[in-house]
Amino acid sequence: MAQDVQEALRDGAGLAWPPCPLPHADDDVQPHVLHVLPDLGPDPHWVCEESGTAAAPLGALGATAS
Ligand SMILES: [Zn+2]
Repeated sequence: MAQDVQEALRDGAGLAWPPCPLPHADDDVQPHVLHVLPDLGPDPHWVCEESGTAAAPLGALGATAS
């Protein structure tokens, strides 16, 4: 089951999180996603899971103007 999830993530199928838009010094870095940190608390941000760099405030990605 876990392997299926990993394959789905690697293939980009059913990807629930935004792909990391940040440039990385390592050109060989695998495609990866952003996590919301902190999960609970003030001022959540999308954070690159590879570099730990904050990419954008929560709501700045995939948000539609309303
Ligand atoms: Zn990244």
